[in-house]
Amino acid sequence: MNPDRSTRTLLSRRHLLGIGAGGAIATAMPASFARARVPAPRWSKPSRPVRNIVFMVGDGMGQGVITLADMMLKLQSRGPSNYQKIIENHAAFRRATCMTHSADGWVTDSAAAGSAWGIGEHINNGAVNFTPDERTPEPILVTAKNAGKRTGLVTTTRITHATPASFIANVPHRDLEDDIAKQILDRRVDVALGGGLKHFPNSVLAEHKDITLVTNRAELARTPSEGRLLGLFAHDHCPFSLDRPETCPSLSEMSLAALNRLDRAPEGFVLQIEGGRIDHAAHDNDAGSLVFDQIAFDETIGTVLQWAEGRDDTLIIVTADHVTANPGLTFYAKDGKRSFKRLQSTSHSFDWIADRYGEGDKTLDRFVSIVQDAVRFELTSEDVVSIERALIQKQQVDPFNVANGVWMVLGSVLANHTGVAFLSPNHTADYVEVYATGPGSEAMPSFVDNIHLHGMMLAALGVSAGR
Ligand SMILES: [Zn+2]
Repeated sequence: MNPDRSTRTLLSRRHLLGIGAGGAIATAMPASFARARVPAPRWSKPSRPVRNIVFMVGDGMGQGVITLADMMLKLQSRGPSNYQKIIENHAAFRRATCMTHSADGWVTDSAAAGSAWGIGEHINNGAVNFTPDERTPEPILVTAKNAGKRTGLVTTTRITHATPASFIANVPHRDLEDDIAKQILDRRVDVALGGGLKHFPNSVLAEHKDITLVTNRAELARTPSEGRLLGLFAHDHCPFSLDRPETCPSLSEMSLAALNRLDRAPEGFVLQIEGGRIDHAAHDNDAGSLVFDQIAFDETIGTVLQWAEGRDDTLIIVTADHVTANPGLTFYAKDGKRSFKRLQSTSHSFDWIADRYGEGDKTLDRFVSIVQDAVRFELTSEDVVSIERALIQKQQVDPFNVANGVWMVLGSVLANHTGVAFLSPNHTADYVEVYATGPGSEAMPSFVDNIHLHGMMLAALGVSAGR
């Protein structure tokens, strides 16, 4: 696209909308992305004081996975999903379509997308609240703390992963997770629950003697009611819902523990809750893990809405950072129904398959048998040939270069049975949805840029950006 033309379009649009110079379109951005900009909403004072903000993220959650989870819940006579109930509740929820691009691409990663909420600026993929010109604006949880709020992070990934980091940390690259861990502690997050124990060595924790550390579900249930709480339930990410042991709390349980604890804060709180492994399942093209991790996020939406019932002091935002791999049921009519039902019996994730396979002989037969244990249906001889080409012969099976590797091929093989297929192992440039309810949500327009959600939170907190 010709940048000059886009600037002209933008200027004329700006003129039409009556937006003054230095207003909504002032942030620096490469010209090639200028076309995507929309004016910043004029966030007004909320109708009532906002005591709390709960910001819920389905990482990689697009319409595809939302639909699949809703279908599964209906199939199991547990539907409709809480997400579906939000969609239908026009009276309480404002709805927006949201752009997801970063400063350097149409397709964002979670770090840049989360930073858009964290600091209200588009930055490059890979960075966490660290701008292309090397500034480190104040992340939203630091602003919230300075405004007298308590703060919290809950996730199914490592607590140091990109999305939780984007509310608290400033680092040039998301992989600097030891630094992110230190910032979570030094910036005094009150409640942090998730995985990632490996980034919190005793030497670091020793500097924060007021923190209670818990590492399993039973300990979480009997924590002292005051003081900072760090709950790390896995060395790495928490397991997918399909593999989750009894000792590891669910996302819904962690979220309720955080809400009840933070609600004791005299001035209220800001809490981010992330269903972080929806994204990982989609990257893996693992339809079973995807659907059941989305259902775990959906249960958490139900928990949060139930907690907030009858309150008029909490702004709740539900959104996604981007869409991952665009999954969907793609078989028609009865064939689709029959196929999708097979997904119900999935008992374990691709992670579980990889772990089992890694423990013994690397043979095709063993791999296929472990896969069949996990999905609980038989593969065909054609399926096994495709797996053999990818796993043993290391051949390219799919002509789409990025859609190869054993897990993508396995995902495609299973799609022959379940009808649920994926576009690629990557994120896409799709828009996502934002639903918001409570004081502070009133001014949300129907089309927003992800950076605008930062402004919505600042207006709700009654503060301006501290940079
Ligand atoms: Zn991702």
